[in-house]
Amino acid sequence: MKHKAFNWKDDFRCLHCGYHVSANPIVSGVVTRNHCPYCLWSRHLDLLAAGDRLSVCKAPMQPLGLTVKKSHKKYSRAGSGELMVVHACTDCGNVAINRIAADDDVAMLLEVFEGSLELDRQIRSGLVQAGILLLDAAEACFSRDGFHRTTMQSICRESGLSPGAVYHYFHSKEDLFFAVLEWLLNELTRSLDQIASSQESPRERLAAELELLFHSAEVNRKLYLVLFDFVTLGARSDRFRQLFHDFFLSCRKRDAQIISEGIKLQEFRRVRPQDAAATIRALVDGYCLQWLMDSSTVPVEVFRDRCGAVLGAYLLRG
Ligand SMILES: [Zn+2]
Ligand SMILES: [Zn+2]
Repeated sequence: MKHKAFNWKDDFRCLHCGYHVSANPIVSGVVTRNHCPYCLWSRHLDLLAAGDRLSVCKAPMQPLGLTVKKSHKKYSRAGSGELMVVHACTDCGNVAINRIAADDDVAMLLEVFEGSLELDRQIRSGLVQAGILLLDAAEACFSRDGFHRTTMQSICRESGLSPGAVYHYFHSKEDLFFAVLEWLLNELTRSLDQIASSQESPRERLAAELELLFHSAEVNRKLYLVLFDFVTLGARSDRFRQLFHDFFLSCRKRDAQIISEGIKLQEFRRVRPQDAAATIRALVDGYCLQWLMDSSTVPVEVFRDRCGAVLGAYLLRG
């Protein structure tokens, strides 16, 4: 693979949102910046290969959805694929898939994913012709039928792709499921880290964390149902268990840190930070589960507020 030297002239102004975008790989984590990290729109510049800049079209390219590309790295974990953004040219219809950059806006990625659930038939069939499997097809099957009743055939039917094309991305539905979960947990971790490192007081950071966790449950009710499906896999499969383990561990570390700071600042009672962190996790997951199993007449805010009240009684100084 040839590496392109960094050139500040590659910086650009986004055609869609107008922001100035730095092409420096230290910022983006990718060699060739091909889309705006704020709105994720791109521009039709490449003709034959990523970064060749030979196309004469130059029209804006809209982000349509997400897909996963099989990793070609020899020592990468089995089944781990790289998440990519699918772009379509607003002028000539050309479709491209592009690496996600380190600084791409997470909320925007989720928005693109949600938007892909509503793509019209014509655009969808264009993607099928290009052999692209949108993550939404897999997600739709998993959230409708659960992991055990989803088959590779149903994913083919949902996506419109041939079995050969689907297997081009994944060896099995378990690989596909793993990629969806890995992505979800990574995004959640990134958002939670952002809250934890903010300048707010420990008490406010904890409240913001609850807001995020219960809000994303409301937005992604279906995805949370999928998440609970993963729990059964985690009990049997090492790589699923490892993924959960890493996620819980990072949650406990983050929360223990917030609690210790709060104790130092005398916002919180003197509890053991490790115990408090595990308790926060247990409350959030427990309340989310009850909310999901409820008859959907009780809004998620009710559970969020119950959770907040219990934590307040436990942590706040009287
Ligand atoms: Zn932009
Ligand atoms: Zn074009």
